[in-house]
Amino acid sequence: MTVRIVGGGLAGSEAAWQAASAGVPVTLYEMRPVRATAVHKTDRLAELVCSNSFRGDKLDNAVGLLKEEMRRLDSLVMRAAEASRVPAGAALAVDRDRFAETITNTLSTHPLVTIVREEITSIPSSSEDQPVIVATGPLTSDALSSELAAIVGQTHLYFYDAISPIVLAESIDRSKVFRQSRWDRSFRGGQQGARVPGATVPGAATSDPDGVACGVDDGQGDYLNCPLTRDEYEAFYRALVEAESATVHDFDKERFFEGCLPIEVMAHRGKDTLRFGPMKPVGLVDPRTGREPYAAVQLRQDNLAGDHFSLVGFQTQIKWGDQARVLRLIPGLEAAEFVRFGMVHRNTYVNGPAVLSETWQVRTRPTLFFAGQMSGVEGYVESAASGLLAGLNAAALAKGEPVSSPPRTTAIGALAYYVSHANPAHYEPSNITFGIIQALDPSAGPGAGRAPRRKKLRNVALSERALADLQTWASTRRRVAIKSAS
Ligand SMILES: Cc1cc2nc3c(=O)[nH]c(=O)nc-3n(C[C@H](O)[C@H](O)[C@H](O)COP(=O)(O)OP(=O)(O)OC[C@H]3O[C@@H](n4cnc5c(N)ncnc54)[C@H](O)[C@@H]3O)c2cc1C
Repeated sequence: MTVRIVGGGLAGSEAAWQAASAGVPVTLYEMRPVRATAVHKTDRLAELVCSNSFRGDKLDNAVGLLKEEMRRLDSLVMRAAEASRVPAGAALAVDRDRFAETITNTLSTHPLVTIVREEITSIPSSSEDQPVIVATGPLTSDALSSELAAIVGQTHLYFYDAISPIVLAESIDRSKVFRQSRWDRSFRGGQQGARVPGATVPGAATSDPDGVACGVDDGQGDYLNCPLTRDEYEAFYRALVEAESATVHDFDKERFFEGCLPIEVMAHRGKDTLRFGPMKPVGLVDPRTGREPYAAVQLRQDNLAGDHFSLVGFQTQIKWGDQARVLRLIPGLEAAEFVRFGMVHRNTYVNGPAVLSETWQVRTRPTLFFAGQMSGVEGYVESAASGLLAGLNAAALAKGEPVSSPPRTTAIGALAYYVSHANPAHYEPSNITFGIIQALDPSAGPGAGRAPRRKKLRNVALSERALADLQTWASTRRRVAIKSAS
């Protein structure tokens, strides 16, 4: 009985800790320092490659809830974060060296953990008593990427994220936008997504094999349309071409695939390029004028997070401050609250809903788990949280115990559910948000389960319910474990 884990980042380290804490011997393969990545600088496990922040740490904030759940499940990442905490107001920020050092020391001295410094180029064989977790992160090495493509299918593995911004539904001015699908009908099947699937060489420029460029309404589902007059379009265009782009890492400079160009790149190609791309008005009729608008921005509702709308085809690298300023020039978005800003970056990840179950097992090969950013989540904390659950479940499998996921009312359970059940046709890696956690019942009577009207109180109520439900899940799980062990 053993669990083998490939990748000693945030997800792999947490998974190793959880499996070893459950009494299962672990072999953890990490390729650094034998082989470097484009962003890691040290040979330590769980190195933070960029910011030193784990974001908000209060229960009125979804990532604060996720962290609290992880603490209650004895997360090593959370222990190390507390031990290396630095002042950062309401956020949890860490001394990155102490953080990675704490994790490296804890795992290297753990009697059940063996760390092997080696690049894994093919996925080890797995079985029920020897499950494997792959947690090789956004910069998964090229050799392993080819292997992954063979397992999950070429079209379910992506090498770049070209992420469109997401706004909160309640911050959209409904008096200025109208709900309509282009041509008022569903005119084609197929996929639409701001990502590059199936490139044989990681990083290669490839357009979507379905031929659907980013930013083209696929005619499926409802869209909110923000119509622009000529003057509004020109003001938006000027602001866009003058906005400052984020600096990109060297490995990112090779990207830019025609199917998923950032809006600012399109804008620099010509004043009307956007009007023939993501801002094309054709097939839309503004009910206030009875005419086709000069240009339009489409907002698509997330199928699971109903209060989130993404700006279709608006992948962008503009710096976040400028992004908010420029996008708020769009009619209807003047007071938009951004759940997530747009980004374009190198990111190896699978189409979670097409590949994974909510226990982080590969559906077609349940003795293999994916965790971390490559499993289709976004962010340090979310990566570690997926590693936590994958580690617990891999250990359970190795011991012949049942695997499970916490309910969707918890942040960890909601994340697992989102990754395995979102619409695969529009899949984009997600941070944890309250939007993907099962809503409180607005019709419930006073007391537990009822949704307070004020957002902050509603979020706290969601968190209280989540922690209670996590406790129930954890105790049931333990009972199950004790029962099957006896
Ligand atoms: C440039 C960049 C900046 C980012 N900034 C942030 C940020 O500020 N905040 C945030 O929350 N998230 C950020 N992210 C996302 C961040 O990478 C993830 O949130 C997090 O590190 C993912 O954890 P992980 O365990 O999945 O991957 P990682 O932490 O990257 O760990 C993967 C590990 O696998 C190893 N590995 C890869 N291939 C192999 C192989 N074949 N054999 C053996 N070992 C292998 C790697 O060396 C690495 O140690 C950033 C990502 C990138 C690329």
